[in-house]
Amino acid sequence: MGDVLKEIFKPTNCRKCKERYVYKAFGEYECPKCGYIELDEYGKIRKYLEENGPQPAINISTATKIPVSAIDQYLREGRLEIPEDSEIFIKCELCETAIRYGRYCPSCAANLSKKFLSVLMPSEVGEVPKKMKGKMRFLENDKSAKISTRK
Ligand SMILES: [Zn+2]
Ligand SMILES: [Zn+2]
Repeated sequence: MGDVLKEIFKPTNCRKCKERYVYKAFGEYECPKCGYIELDEYGKIRKYLEENGPQPAINISTATKIPVSAIDQYLREGRLEIPEDSEIFIKCELCETAIRYGRYCPSCAANLSKKFLSVLMPSEVGEVPKKMKGKMRFLENDKSAKISTRK
Protein backbone atom coordinates (compact mmCIF):
# COMPACT_ATOMS: atom_id res chain seq x y z
CA MET A 1 0.00 0.00 0.00
CA GLY A 2 1.12 3.58 -0.59
CA ASP A 3 1.86 6.25 1.96
CA VAL A 4 -0.83 7.56 4.26
CA LEU A 5 -2.20 10.83 2.90
CA LYS A 6 -1.54 14.00 4.88
CA GLU A 7 -4.30 15.94 6.62
CA ILE A 8 -4.99 19.28 4.99
CA PHE A 9 -5.02 22.45 7.04
CA LYS A 10 -8.60 23.45 7.87
CA PRO A 11 -9.33 27.03 8.97
CA THR A 12 -11.34 26.99 12.22
CA ASN A 13 -11.99 30.54 13.38
CA CYS A 14 -12.74 33.75 11.48
CA ARG A 15 -9.70 35.89 10.74
CA LYS A 16 -11.72 39.04 11.34
CA CYS A 17 -14.01 38.39 14.31
CA LYS A 18 -12.79 35.00 15.66
CA GLU A 19 -16.24 33.37 15.34
CA ARG A 20 -16.14 29.66 14.42
CA TYR A 21 -16.40 29.04 10.67
CA VAL A 22 -19.15 26.96 9.11
CA TYR A 23 -17.83 24.63 6.40
CA LYS A 24 -19.73 25.19 3.16
CA ALA A 25 -18.31 22.94 0.43
CA PHE A 26 -15.28 22.53 -1.84
CA GLY A 27 -12.78 23.94 0.64
CA GLU A 28 -14.83 27.04 1.48
CA TYR A 29 -15.44 28.22 5.07
CA GLU A 30 -17.85 31.02 5.98
CA CYS A 31 -18.12 33.05 9.16
CA PRO A 32 -21.77 33.00 10.33
CA LYS A 33 -21.30 36.34 12.11
CA CYS A 34 -19.54 38.68 9.66
CA GLY A 35 -19.79 36.65 6.44
CA TYR A 36 -16.02 36.52 5.85
CA ILE A 37 -15.05 33.62 3.57
CA GLU A 38 -11.77 31.74 3.85
CA LEU A 39 -10.52 29.02 1.53
CA ASP A 40 -8.26 26.11 2.44
CA GLU A 41 -5.58 24.91 -0.03
CA TYR A 42 -8.04 22.81 -1.98
CA GLY A 43 -10.50 25.72 -2.10
CA LYS A 44 -7.80 28.00 -3.54
CA ILE A 45 -6.89 25.50 -6.25
CA ARG A 46 -10.52 24.97 -7.09
CA LYS A 47 -11.22 28.70 -7.35
CA TYR A 48 -8.20 29.14 -9.63
CA LEU A 49 -9.37 26.29 -11.90
CA GLU A 50 -12.93 27.61 -12.02
CA GLU A 51 -11.62 30.98 -13.17
CA ASN A 52 -9.00 29.69 -15.61
CA GLY A 53 -10.13 26.24 -16.79
CA PRO A 54 -7.81 23.19 -16.72
CA GLN A 55 -4.23 24.35 -16.08
CA PRO A 56 -0.75 22.82 -15.90
CA ALA A 57 0.18 21.75 -12.34
CA ILE A 58 3.16 24.10 -12.34
CA ASN A 59 0.97 27.13 -13.20
CA ILE A 60 -1.51 26.25 -10.44
CA SER A 61 1.39 26.00 -8.01
CA THR A 62 2.87 29.36 -9.08
CA ALA A 63 -0.49 31.16 -8.94
CA THR A 64 -1.70 29.73 -5.61
CA LYS A 65 1.72 29.22 -3.90
CA ILE A 66 0.64 25.65 -3.12
CA PRO A 67 3.32 23.02 -3.85
CA VAL A 68 2.86 20.50 -6.66
CA SER A 69 3.11 17.75 -3.99
CA ALA A 70 -0.19 19.02 -2.52
CA ILE A 71 -1.80 19.05 -5.99
CA ASP A 72 -0.61 15.45 -6.38
CA GLN A 73 -2.25 14.61 -3.08
CA TYR A 74 -5.62 16.04 -4.17
CA LEU A 75 -5.34 13.94 -7.34
CA ARG A 76 -4.72 10.89 -5.09
CA GLU A 77 -7.79 11.79 -3.04
CA GLY A 78 -9.87 12.01 -6.22
CA ARG A 79 -10.68 15.70 -5.64
CA LEU A 80 -8.85 16.83 -8.78
CA GLU A 81 -8.31 14.91 -12.01
CA ILE A 82 -6.18 14.89 -15.10
CA PRO A 83 -8.38 15.38 -18.20
CA GLU A 84 -8.79 12.52 -20.66
CA ASP A 85 -6.89 14.33 -23.44
CA SER A 86 -3.71 14.83 -21.38
CA GLU A 87 -0.43 13.15 -22.33
CA ILE A 88 0.85 13.15 -18.75
CA PHE A 89 -0.76 11.16 -15.93
CA ILE A 90 -0.12 9.84 -12.42
CA LYS A 91 0.88 6.24 -11.66
CA CYS A 92 -1.05 3.52 -9.89
CA GLU A 93 0.79 3.20 -6.54
CA LEU A 94 1.21 -0.55 -7.06
CA CYS A 95 1.76 -1.36 -10.75
CA GLU A 96 2.58 2.06 -12.29
CA THR A 97 -0.25 1.95 -14.83
CA ALA A 98 -1.28 5.48 -15.89
CA ILE A 99 -4.39 6.75 -14.08
CA ARG A 100 -6.17 10.12 -14.17
CA TYR A 101 -6.84 10.39 -10.41
CA GLY A 102 -6.95 8.13 -7.36
CA ARG A 103 -4.34 5.79 -5.89
CA TYR A 104 -4.82 2.48 -7.69
CA CYS A 105 -5.79 1.29 -11.15
CA PRO A 106 -9.04 -0.72 -11.30
CA SER A 107 -7.28 -4.11 -11.51
CA CYS A 108 -4.98 -3.47 -8.51
CA ALA A 109 -8.02 -2.13 -6.61
CA ALA A 110 -9.89 -5.38 -7.33
CA ASN A 111 -6.91 -7.43 -6.08
CA LEU A 112 -6.57 -5.31 -2.95
CA SER A 113 -10.26 -5.65 -2.13
CA LYS A 114 -10.01 -9.44 -2.43
CA LYS A 115 -6.88 -9.62 -0.29
CA PHE A 116 -8.12 -7.41 2.53
CA LEU A 117 -11.79 -8.34 2.20
CA SER A 118 -12.65 -4.68 2.28
CA VAL A 119 -13.81 -2.21 -0.27
CA LEU A 120 -11.69 0.80 -1.17
CA MET A 121 -13.21 4.26 -1.28
CA PRO A 122 -14.44 4.93 -4.83
CA SER A 123 -12.20 8.03 -4.98
CA GLU A 124 -9.13 5.83 -4.41
CA VAL A 125 -9.78 3.84 -7.55
CA GLY A 126 -8.64 5.79 -10.58
CA GLU A 127 -9.67 5.69 -14.20
CA VAL A 128 -7.17 4.57 -16.79
CA PRO A 129 -7.02 7.05 -19.70
CA LYS A 130 -8.86 5.73 -22.75
CA LYS A 131 -6.32 6.74 -25.33
CA MET A 132 -2.72 6.07 -24.38
CA LYS A 133 -0.41 7.61 -26.93
CA GLY A 134 3.19 6.52 -27.28
CA LYS A 135 5.49 6.66 -24.29
CA MET A 136 3.74 7.62 -21.07
CA ARG A 137 4.87 10.65 -19.12
CA PHE A 138 4.07 11.23 -15.46
CA LEU A 139 3.38 14.22 -13.24
CA GLU A 140 6.29 13.37 -10.94
CA ASN A 141 8.70 14.13 -13.80
CA ASP A 142 6.65 16.53 -15.87
CA LYS A 143 4.83 19.27 -13.97
CA SER A 144 3.20 20.59 -17.14
CA ALA A 145 0.45 17.94 -16.68
CA LYS A 146 -2.95 19.61 -16.97
CA ILE A 147 -5.23 19.42 -13.95
CA SER A 148 -8.97 20.03 -13.64
CA THR A 149 -11.57 19.80 -10.88
CA ARG A 150 -13.70 16.70 -10.44
CA LYS A 151 -17.45 17.08 -10.25
ZN1 LIG B 1 -16.25 36.75 11.19
ZN1 LIG C 1 -2.26 -0.96 -10.71
